[in-house]
Amino acid sequence: MTHTITSRVLPAYARLDVTFVEGNGAWLTDTEGKRYLDLFAGIAVVGLGHRHPAPLAAAHAQLDRLWHVSNLYWTEPMQELAGKLSDRFGGAQAFFCNSGAESIEAALKWARKATGRSEVVALEGSFHGRTFGALSVTGQPSKRAAFEPLVPGARFATPSTLADHVGPDTAAILLEPVQGEGGVHPLDPAVLAEARALADEHGALLILDEVQTGVGRSGAFFAWQRLGTRPHAVTLAKGLANGLPIGAFLVADGAPQGLEPGDHASTFGGNPVACAAACAVLDTVDDALLAHVRDVSAVLAGGLAAFGEVRGLGLLLAVELDRPAAPVVAAALEHGLVIGSAGERTLRLTPPLTLSSEEARLGIQRLEEALA
Ligand SMILES: *Cc1c(COP(=O)(O)O)cnc(C)c1O
Repeated sequence: MTHTITSRVLPAYARLDVTFVEGNGAWLTDTEGKRYLDLFAGIAVVGLGHRHPAPLAAAHAQLDRLWHVSNLYWTEPMQELAGKLSDRFGGAQAFFCNSGAESIEAALKWARKATGRSEVVALEGSFHGRTFGALSVTGQPSKRAAFEPLVPGARFATPSTLADHVGPDTAAILLEPVQGEGGVHPLDPAVLAEARALADEHGALLILDEVQTGVGRSGAFFAWQRLGTRPHAVTLAKGLANGLPIGAFLVADGAPQGLEPGDHASTFGGNPVACAAACAVLDTVDDALLAHVRDVSAVLAGGLAAFGEVRGLGLLLAVELDRPAAPVVAAALEHGLVIGSAGERTLRLTPPLTLSSEEARLGIQRLEEALA
């Protein structure tokens, strides 16, 4: 097969033709000096907006002190972050890594070790990452097909068939509180409660993948706090350090222990600069900001309803269009608006949690222009 090389970056992504050079709050600037309203935040990553002063100052200060020592020693930012995450969760211990997929890998290894079982029940349409373990439990055949054989033991259920798949071989039930990549489908709180009951009945573990929904995006720090059911473990990544690479896997106090020294590791995991930024993020995501997320969510969802059916929770929102989404994403960019898609006709909006109501209304106006 021949192909034309247009860039020295491998073509693993379908990139839009724009190069961003600067960001500030909910605004991005490209190489031509054109400004864009960013309602995507790097796929729910830059939760506090670009160059938010709190993580910026924390990362700067840590850059000037210590970058790395390895996990053979302690560092202050990592210890502090673990403590803050435990406080938010209501008692938990953390394993730190560098991405969402890695946090899922840690969760899968923990579940096997803690239960001595190998099956993981996940949902059809789910997304848990692109590494082999995470891909194996991702319920989208199109993403898996070219890479078989994958890790054995994955079973895919629908919310209504969960009970048929959980049994004595189940190590874990793995769920997203809102399926993000798979089209922004919120999980019914009753299904989450049923999953916890099934896990308890069969000696399995309930793991929530909050890589996209966590760190305030849902309008609570963890989306499970809005849905009302506590998991045994949770994964975080995207918004945790406002754009610096980090992932975290949290095990609830009282849940089975699994990982012992030697079982799992990550060279860069718990990096002091990323952890210092994350500590500042956690300090900033307070009750006032969470209330703001719920308020701006209502403004944005209200405006989006003019274009189609709206789904989501907090500032993880989608609107189902009457036409393919990709050309609309490209047209929005022309109109100075950055948004994303999640599926054929689904627009996905994951703006900074700090977005103002005025910016939300401006975004709706620009989207209207793009759709005209
Ligand atoms: C993005 C995402 C992942 C994968 O995260 P990476 O950092 O890209 O590896 C896993 N789970 C969910 C729910 C995600 O949204």
